[in-house]
Amino acid sequence: MRLLLLLLAILPLAMAAPKSSTTDRLAVRYDYFKVYSLFIENEQQLEELKEIYEDISVHVLNELAGPGHSYNIIVGPLLQKYVEGKLNDLKIIYKVIVEDLQKLLDKSAVDKDSQMEWESYHTLDTIYDWVDKECAAHDYLECKVIGQSYEGRDIKSIRLSKREGNKAIFLEGNIHAMEWISSATVTFLLNELINSEDPEMQRLSEEYDWIVVPMVNPDGFVYTHEVERLWRKNRRPNGATNSSGLCYGIDMNRNFDYHWGGAGWNIDEPCDHWFGGDEPNTEIEILSLQSFVSSFEDGYIRSYMAFHAYGQYVLLPYGHSNTEFPPNYEQMKRIAAAFSDAASEPYGSAFTYGASGLLNYVVSGAAKDWAYGVKNIPFTCTVELRDKGTYGFFLPSNQITEVGVEVAAGLKGLVNKAAEEGIFD
Ligand SMILES: [Zn+2]
Repeated sequence: MRLLLLLLAILPLAMAAPKSSTTDRLAVRYDYFKVYSLFIENEQQLEELKEIYEDISVHVLNELAGPGHSYNIIVGPLLQKYVEGKLNDLKIIYKVIVEDLQKLLDKSAVDKDSQMEWESYHTLDTIYDWVDKECAAHDYLECKVIGQSYEGRDIKSIRLSKREGNKAIFLEGNIHAMEWISSATVTFLLNELINSEDPEMQRLSEEYDWIVVPMVNPDGFVYTHEVERLWRKNRRPNGATNSSGLCYGIDMNRNFDYHWGGAGWNIDEPCDHWFGGDEPNTEIEILSLQSFVSSFEDGYIRSYMAFHAYGQYVLLPYGHSNTEFPPNYEQMKRIAAAFSDAASEPYGSAFTYGASGLLNYVVSGAAKDWAYGVKNIPFTCTVELRDKGTYGFFLPSNQITEVGVEVAAGLKGLVNKAAEEGIFD
């Protein structure tokens, strides 16, 4: 039975990691795959879930860190009965949140020839064409390629500066490949800063400099469009192999060098989605990002915000501990609260805020911790965008604009509060 299950389970995975060249890649489909949300109450259930994961290679979408959390898993049609039986036996509470994953993905299908707008998701080319066009049209935008990805794609940056002497706010997008809402939101915000007629947004655009890297992980992002929608890491072969061949990628938001190597299940399993590398600072994409951040004079960048999905959180440092807190933690909480209050106004979306080690789980190597701990930027955070688990990583494209609107509102609240707190002094 176990072997049969293993064979059934690895079929889609074998397709997900083709050994052939990039030219004949086959896109993975998820027809009739269900997404289950499991609530794991205790350590014993967590261990049992890990066993299911190891036995039949179900695709677990969230880092399995500890009990007291919900986890989403994807199960193909042939295994659903078995998994449901197993969950019932183990008394793990679950619900099916997506009945047919492919149908849901098809609703947000990407048109390769589309122009940039914020009602659908776009390819890397469409996003970069828009960036180039905006850069060409506005003198106050300075656009720079900060480095190349492992597969040789540009990592582009945009710096908006309308006034000498401003302090800067840094916006980081799509370090995790599958989180398309991240780059969609970061570009939405940049577009507001450039083109919005809202006087408050224009004031923020005048009084602060904005540095935006909308796509930290272009290789992974292209891979999610062309091959495997559920890819998270970059695409560098990481030296390990499994039954499907070479294992690819490092979770780049686990690879930054600040208290690196802390807890987090599977962070050291090279074939898993959360592999943080053999050592910190190994990936060309984050090294490019780090040297770009370091190229500005100390004290210029005063806020660093990394955008992710999902859960509606403003996660503050630190990630590596839930007993040690940053020196200005109370101040950061007040600023995050201002984001949360303002972001809830347009549509009522609630954002929870606090130290990531406390709210989420203890895990190290994230950009926000490096920006705070190494670069001494006084307000840093990870914003986990919509939703709270209804669609999870598969947020339909018809929510992009609403997410943009609520995050823009939150950002105004955050910047004004940070100014009041002296972050930009
Ligand atoms: Zn993420």
